[in-house]
Amino acid sequence: MNIVGGDGKPMNQKQAPPGPKMDASQLIDVKCDSCEAPLFEPLFYMKKVPKMLTQNGSDTFVPIQTWRCAGCGEINDEFKINNLL
Ligand SMILES: [Zn+2]
Repeated sequence: MNIVGGDGKPMNQKQAPPGPKMDASQLIDVKCDSCEAPLFEPLFYMKKVPKMLTQNGSDTFVPIQTWRCAGCGEINDEFKINNLL
């Protein structure tokens, strides 16, 4: 007996992960500008859309994700908000 999913296809066929395959040898390490640590923590700049520009008449917050060095807390220039927008 075959087990099928909601779309009628067998479930025991592994799906390839989406997106192009990346060659790890071609990736460039990002390091902290200040202490060269290779680890980063996510954090967010917050922007507020004034209520006069929103549909529902109240202020709306828009998070813009960036990353800071997990070692010293430095935010690399390429992660500063002017380079993210
Ligand atoms: Zn650092």
